[in-house]
Amino acid sequence: MDRSWMNHKGVKDRQKPEYLAGFNEFLHFAFIGKSDGTMLKCPCLNCRLVLSQNRKNMQCHLLVYGIDPTYNPWVSHGESIQEIDNDKEGYIGEVSDNEKASTEHESTSPKLTYREKRRLEQAELRLKFPDRKRRGPARSKKYGPRMWNSNSKEKIKINFMDELCRVVGEKANEFIYDCSKWVQEYCPVDSWNWAKMDKVAKTRLYYKIRGKYDLPEKVAGADVTEALSFQCSMLYKHWRFRLKEQHFRNKSVADAISSRPNTIDVGPWTWLVCEYWNNEKQKHISKVNTKNKLKQTETPANGARSTARIFHDLINAPPTPTNSRT
Ligand SMILES: [Zn+2]
Repeated sequence: MDRSWMNHKGVKDRQKPEYLAGFNEFLHFAFIGKSDGTMLKCPCLNCRLVLSQNRKNMQCHLLVYGIDPTYNPWVSHGESIQEIDNDKEGYIGEVSDNEKASTEHESTSPKLTYREKRRLEQAELRLKFPDRKRRGPARSKKYGPRMWNSNSKEKIKINFMDELCRVVGEKANEFIYDCSKWVQEYCPVDSWNWAKMDKVAKTRLYYKIRGKYDLPEKVAGADVTEALSFQCSMLYKHWRFRLKEQHFRNKSVADAISSRPNTIDVGPWTWLVCEYWNNEKQKHISKVNTKNKLKQTETPANGARSTARIFHDLINAPPTPTNSRT
């Protein structure tokens, strides 16, 4: 039995038909004669046969975290070493390859970027809680008029959901609202992207946030600034997206320039309209993004939603080997 599919090296590998067919075969094997609700040892890189999962969660884990490539033969799921020895293609010969692959995996898996990690975690969360309430658009209405006494020494404690770096708790919405407001206040609108954002602006922004909110030192083992930076980068992106929708789309450049919001200075606004939004490269990126969004149902794109969608589709209709995607 070919188990080369187990040597996946990342999310992209796990979206390939070989992996999908392979892990479905594994699930079928593991759960044969058992109900889907049965809890079995999960061989994903997170549970590593220590934690047990039902079929649906295991399926999810094998996609999101990936199977432990060293788990062969599948002894915890009823396979014996003997059976594998008799296999024509041979398991013994593959062991060294597997071992090599596993050490490679160890060294490559922590290289997942923060975004990739978070995207996967969110995808998993959506799978686990498909009915999870999504926040409405009314945060500004709800939290805008609220006053906070800036002389107060007491800070508002903010919690992050473990491993997800998601701000949680009853103060989460207020926190996001404030961060969004301060991003607009401190961060110049004329930056190519968040990474290139003026360091002084970022420092002042974080200082402001930490003046009101009491944040933990570490979030999921990383410095809280990393989580904060990610949070703010999204808010910055959303802010500019809203500006683009309101002041640029379907308008001439001249109209866009004159429709400047009075909270933004002429210089940065002109740059945003002429150099950034009207830039050929930017237009191209925007066009490609739109096109990809439209193709989301059929093509794996890289956006968070589409990743979630891929997983969702896979969970609901496991593909067969013939159902190959490109
Ligand atoms: Zn697992």
